[in-house]
Amino acid sequence: MLKNILQKNSTINQYNLLVNEINLLETNLKTLTDNEIKTKSIQLQNRYKKDQNLDSLISEAFALTREASIRTLGLRHFDVQLIGGLVLNSGKIAEMKTGEGKTLVATLPAYLNALTKKGVHIVTVNDYLANRDQISMGQVYRFLGLNTGLIQENMSGIERQKNYDSDITYVTNNELGFDYLRDNMSLNISNVVLRPFNYCIVDEVDSVLIDEAQTPLIISNAVETSIDKYIIAAEVTDYLEVNVHFKVDEKNRNVILTKEGAIQIEQILKINDLYNPNDPWIPYIINALKATTLFFRDVHYIVQNNQIIIVDEFTGRIMIDRRWSDGLHQAVEAKEGLPIRQNTETAASITYQNLFLLYPKLSGMTGTAKTSEVEFDKIYNLPVIEIPTAKPSLRNDLDDVIYKDDISKWNAIAKECKTLSLKNQPILIGTTTVEKSEMLGELLNEYKLNYQILNAKPENVRREAEIVAQAGSQGSITIATNMAGRGTDIILGGNTKFKVRKTLYNILVSYKNKNKSKINSTIFPLLKQLVGVSQKFISVLISLVNDNLFLELSDTELLKILNDSDQIRIPKNAYQCSIKYLVKELINFEKKNQKIENKIVKNLGGLYIIGTERNDSRRIDNQLRGRCGRQGDPGTSKFFLSLEDRILRLFGGSNIQKFMKSQFLDDSPLESSLLTKSLDSAQKRIEELDYDSRKNLFEYDDILNKQRSVIYYERRKILESASVKQKILAYGEQIITELLNTLKKKNLTINEISTRLENLFGTNLLINVLNKFDIDTNNFDLTELKIYLFQEFWLSYETKVLELEIRKVGLIRSLERSLLLVYIDIIWKEHLQKMALLRDAVGWRSYGQRNPLFEYKDEAYELFKSRGIIARHLVIYDLIRSCIL
Ligand code: ADP
Repeated sequence: MLKNILQKNSTINQYNLLVNEINLLETNLKTLTDNEIKTKSIQLQNRYKKDQNLDSLISEAFALTREASIRTLGLRHFDVQLIGGLVLNSGKIAEMKTGEGKTLVATLPAYLNALTKKGVHIVTVNDYLANRDQISMGQVYRFLGLNTGLIQENMSGIERQKNYDSDITYVTNNELGFDYLRDNMSLNISNVVLRPFNYCIVDEVDSVLIDEAQTPLIISNAVETSIDKYIIAAEVTDYLEVNVHFKVDEKNRNVILTKEGAIQIEQILKINDLYNPNDPWIPYIINALKATTLFFRDVHYIVQNNQIIIVDEFTGRIMIDRRWSDGLHQAVEAKEGLPIRQNTETAASITYQNLFLLYPKLSGMTGTAKTSEVEFDKIYNLPVIEIPTAKPSLRNDLDDVIYKDDISKWNAIAKECKTLSLKNQPILIGTTTVEKSEMLGELLNEYKLNYQILNAKPENVRREAEIVAQAGSQGSITIATNMAGRGTDIILGGNTKFKVRKTLYNILVSYKNKNKSKINSTIFPLLKQLVGVSQKFISVLISLVNDNLFLELSDTELLKILNDSDQIRIPKNAYQCSIKYLVKELINFEKKNQKIENKIVKNLGGLYIIGTERNDSRRIDNQLRGRCGRQGDPGTSKFFLSLEDRILRLFGGSNIQKFMKSQFLDDSPLESSLLTKSLDSAQKRIEELDYDSRKNLFEYDDILNKQRSVIYYERRKILESASVKQKILAYGEQIITELLNTLKKKNLTINEISTRLENLFGTNLLINVLNKFDIDTNNFDLTELKIYLFQEFWLSYETKVLELEIRKVGLIRSLERSLLLVYIDIIWKEHLQKMALLRDAVGWRSYGQRNPLFEYKDEAYELFKSRGIIARHLVIYDLIRSCIL
């Protein structure tokens, strides 16, 4: 079977040769001791050091990794996983279905590329996954003599440095991006945490490089904000009527004011001109209208601790540090009556596109990339290769059913849940918003169905992995907003590890807190579940709950020990030792149960996925479908839709709506190929629109990116060099050359020349220049003047150096460096604001046949050049005037 699939795909075929080579090495490796395997790994590192050729090491490195995985994790990479690893190593995207073991696949190219000692980054979408993967896969690398690092949100700079210095580092895209930006704002090389980028594997690559690439990462500073205007604007919207005073363009997320609207607002505010540039009201009004008509609580954002927290539309996750820009965030705060936080200005920013393109070698893996193949190829130069599944897929994707309105649809979903739950088949329902997940929850209450809800609300996110892990157990119903809990495996019959940790936690916490009634009501039923565990298990449990040190642990500390028990190699004390033993024993005990449960759920048909709306992108629908039918498991997916769904309302076209409405006689659903086609094309149109907007963002950012590269390169050179004297001299010389160029064009007055010279030399040099050169009549040799000024500049520079060195040795070197860095940062920050304004301006201006992007490019270049000139002047001006008080 596998052979047939492989032959169909010629791209895959080319990897077969290597897979065979790797397989041939296995027999020999099996005979080696652990130490001999380690020696082999050292030999590979040495061979790389000598030849600098990774390609010649692929088969041996992959074979070693597979053997190390068998010996540490008990998992042998399947042949298709080897192919996945080869695809990743060749700088491409491996599309591997959910449950195919991508985490393990990454170990192959990670180990190989780590042999270079230049560092490998494995990027995941959240801290939990980074931590989990580093703990489990770290065992493989450690066995082969390499070390791993992990970056987590609250780590200090020193910890980050240490972890980035490891051979293989697990990190989230967010942390990586911000570390990169912070590094490039650092004033001291010792604060830089990242090494130069080498090789990167992005897990859930579509989520990171497409969904999250819609908005750039920004580090910002607060600036003065007129808070009153936001509040007043929010009040004004109460007096405005839609379609009379303003129109809402839902498709483009925009609000347009009508003439009547403008007059009405000017009357309310008692102002003459809404658009007055000196006292502008228009942005506040437009944002206030957007906030009320296009941004909804529990859909686009949630309110938490008096703050607006954005909800990612694609993943349903909350985005703690992100804020909408250009005053929109404040407008939403005003609408909700929350404290209005200050506006911010960008100090540094980068898009994920440009961040990841910094890697000389980039690769990614996901279950859903094929539908975005063009984008991956065009923007990232990453081809997508589909990897066959290890076992044939048994997933049954049923046709969509469509209802005439939302009420009928949601009722039908609830009824479907009721029917399925009668036979105990597990159900996972995907919803597009927090609001809808809660609404469905209430509906299921009416049907007296138990369910778990998983959405962007923080109290749920914490339990996310645990809820998802149990979504495959008998009779469970899980409602999840889009793809919450990604990366967590849904095992039919439930996940043993999670179950064991939870059971033990409940038992131990009750003991610890010595709540007698709780002990009776919780522990006895729990212990009943454990009938069949050994006598030793019970004795260890009893000695543990009598251990004073254990009793002093907080609940959180206990949870941490339980979660990390795999990682505790040598227990530090008796209670750690006992906990480790209890977890291990209980897992072994539960494994038997799990096997039985797994069989039962398989017989029930596996996990049943219910989609409640088509998403903007087919990829997101496929992610939901992909949660079932893992590793050859049975599973079913079905989408319930209604004519009132957003996608049909906005993109379905009125003909479709009319036609469909005429087809409905009652509440029963329709299955129509016309509708399916129309939905497919609506999705494709949205995907194209979204792609265009990302491409547009990318093209604009590309221009800024080139400038950012220049600045960051310059900055890094300054940060790393022992002395920046040459740079300072070059600055001075450049200023002189610029001055002479202007002089040549004869458009400087004597006064202007005088000021420029004074700025440069700190003293009025004009008299000396005029004595030697006849500038007035223009009868002088330009080269001679240049040489004269250069010499004067060198002289004043050396005098300043001497003056400062006498006062404090080494001062001048650090002063020069600081001046350069500080001014580069200030000027760059100003440049970013100017570029943002320019970007808006070219969007508005009419250029006839001219492309706004070209306009932007030209003006951006001029702007950048002028910023460079200003930076040079400021540095030299300050340096020449510096003194010790
Ligand atoms: P994915 O990220 O592709 O959805 P995971 O990496 O979460 O998949 O792995 C899914 C499950 O498959 C995990 O429980 C993992 O231990 C298991 N698995 C992965 N590779 C193998 C293998 N070669 N043999 C047995 N089990 C495997």
